[in-house]
Amino acid sequence: MTKNQSLSQIYLDSNATTPVLPAAAKAAFNAMEETFGNPSSSHITGLRAKNLMEQTRKSAMRFLGVGNGKLVFTSGATEGIQTAILSSLVAAKKNIKSGESYTLLYGATEHKAVPNSLHHWNELLEINAEIKAIPVNHRGELDLDFIEKEIDNALMICTMAVNNETGVYQDLNKLEQAIRSTDNDVFWMVDCVQALGKRKLDLQATTIDYAPFSGHKLYAPKGVGLVYIRENAPFTPFIAGGGQESGLRSGTENLPGMAALKVIFDTLNGDAEDKFADHTQLTLYRNQLLSALKEAFPDVVLNHPLDNTVPTTLNFAVPHFASKEIMDLFDAANIRVSSGSACSSKVTRSFVLDAMGLPSWQSESAIRMSFGPLMTQEKCDAACARIKMAAKALGESCLMVKPAENQKLVDGLLELKSGNSCCWLYTDADSKTAVIIDPLPELISRIVNIVNCQKLKVAAVLDTHGHADHQSSRPELEAQLKMVTKTDQLGWPKHFDTAYVGENAYPTIRIGDKALLRVKTPGHTDDSVSYLLTENIDAVKPHFKYAFCGDTILMGSLGRTNFCTSSSEQMYHSLHKLNELLASTTLICASHDYHNEFTTTLITECDRNTLLSNVLSTQSSINEFCEQKSVLDSNLNDQTGCEIQCGAYVEIDESLPIVEYDKNELSILLEKDHDAKLVDIREPHEYMLQHGIKAEENVPMTRLVEFIAQHLSDKDKRYILVCRSGTRSLVVAQALARLGFTNIGHVQGGYALNS
Ligand code: PLP
Repeated sequence: MTKNQSLSQIYLDSNATTPVLPAAAKAAFNAMEETFGNPSSSHITGLRAKNLMEQTRKSAMRFLGVGNGKLVFTSGATEGIQTAILSSLVAAKKNIKSGESYTLLYGATEHKAVPNSLHHWNELLEINAEIKAIPVNHRGELDLDFIEKEIDNALMICTMAVNNETGVYQDLNKLEQAIRSTDNDVFWMVDCVQALGKRKLDLQATTIDYAPFSGHKLYAPKGVGLVYIRENAPFTPFIAGGGQESGLRSGTENLPGMAALKVIFDTLNGDAEDKFADHTQLTLYRNQLLSALKEAFPDVVLNHPLDNTVPTTLNFAVPHFASKEIMDLFDAANIRVSSGSACSSKVTRSFVLDAMGLPSWQSESAIRMSFGPLMTQEKCDAACARIKMAAKALGESCLMVKPAENQKLVDGLLELKSGNSCCWLYTDADSKTAVIIDPLPELISRIVNIVNCQKLKVAAVLDTHGHADHQSSRPELEAQLKMVTKTDQLGWPKHFDTAYVGENAYPTIRIGDKALLRVKTPGHTDDSVSYLLTENIDAVKPHFKYAFCGDTILMGSLGRTNFCTSSSEQMYHSLHKLNELLASTTLICASHDYHNEFTTTLITECDRNTLLSNVLSTQSSINEFCEQKSVLDSNLNDQTGCEIQCGAYVEIDESLPIVEYDKNELSILLEKDHDAKLVDIREPHEYMLQHGIKAEENVPMTRLVEFIAQHLSDKDKRYILVCRSGTRSLVVAQALARLGFTNIGHVQGGYALNS
């Protein structure tokens, strides 16, 4: 383990939360030490506390233009949202006529707190209104025609002043005209959380009924917020109890939070020592950050217009990079941003960008960069420099369009994944020759970058079979690589050598001094083949280092055989053929990896897959195998819209012996056991950017299978794996343990909690 100087953190995630302004923290501390009274107490300490609370309210009322309305303290915006929705629905319920249908409207890009609360209270109060999302256009603006059409049946409408993912703001005047276009008394809530300090608000000049605010989005601590209630708007307390806040919100008040909030509102009112940057200055910072992004990632795409967004938010996508990859890169460079997305079962994507109708890739690649009005020129300059530094590291690992000079050539096997599908790139560094197996459409540009950046000659782009779940991207990749060799339908060159294994001849292509043999392994489909890579083709019995078996043998399963071109009888014979050719150390590289296992061997599979072991030990006859296989295949998931499972599962063992280390345990171990090795399993660009504590060796997950191949003879060596948060290192540790590595540990919580 080595140690170099840490890079200071650059925090660009203010829409998630902000640090507390030092003066606000001081005021909160003072409220804990000095003005600590209970505002309900009638003695002097209590009176002082009550005074502090009312001073805060006064300052907030002045800034927000509350007029004759009320401001009630809450624990944050989520509580404010509940309060507004509960108040509206309790009042609306009184006027509901049976037989009539009603709606609750909310903007499609609203924070999830809003629709989820609407559903909750609609059900709990038995209102049973239809809950409808108001569509937005590609600029994130609400569809006013939709509102005008729907508003008469609506009991409540919830919109937001500024969106938290994109910074898009709504034109509240136009919105008000649409909402009040007919003579209706619909209750209107505007979520103002992201507008505070970024957009001018004069609530009394509007017909907004409720507006929640949250302290922690603007330099106050978490756990304090406010909700505005228009004069005469109905109110139902969300929390009943001791009658604090004139009975509107019970519970002893969060005085330290309020003391901090007072400093923030005083600053907004221009009455404090600290000054917030104004709109013009914030726009200059935003432009500077955007220029830095464009310089760092020349093909960066903005996910929103600039003319209807607050200057403190930038939401962008870098083509061919998932949000997670850019997040990991920035985190390694000690820049904090957010993926601006919500997690769905399969991929990380943004429902906000989806609602705006942006292309799917933009939603999957979205990154949000946000800052607050405490931004300074110095911080902005530092952020821009760091962004460029991070992008340079990407270039050095051959992942950028404009690669850096003198990259180290990738030798051996590289695994590229998209979802659960795997693509393999094998390179012989001496001859700079490569072969690509099972290319995926999402990875084309990445592969082209690697090939061009490393100046590789591609001997072949191969499919292991005609895939059922996607079109082959081979022709497209061959075109982009300007390959002209004549091939068959799976990419095998028309002209090839022949190699003998025993008596049998196999079509072969050379990759430098290595050879790739093609073996027909029908079953999953009738055109399925396996490609076997050897480094000693001239030996009497060549040893195959890798077997690219496509969907014939998958980790924990066998390829399904219930397509129209499948045959379980043929699979039975193909499995026997592979068993004859593969050694116990041959690594099987499948075209799917549903459980993050990376690779496997025949022995590992036979240990847990009785179907396979019975075939190979000839305990199962061909008929028995076909019967059992058909039962397994009938359990496969074929729902439309889901990724097709290409294999039928057998049991997966989750109880693997992984030792977890924290920082102290790790340093004791490394001091005691000089043979133990700390291995960083992040990608090279992340490793390159790592500052502070750094592992001696980097084995990125994309190179893990090559690492396994090289260390199969030394499975008892102790490896401790580390990554950013401990998630990837655990996955890799489990994969190694499954393959029989006996001394694998990982750093729980990764660098995030241990450096
Ligand atoms: N509304 C918006 C627009 C937000 O950005 C957030 C926080 O992310 C919330 C509501 C919820 O705020 P709180 O964390 O104060 O409950």
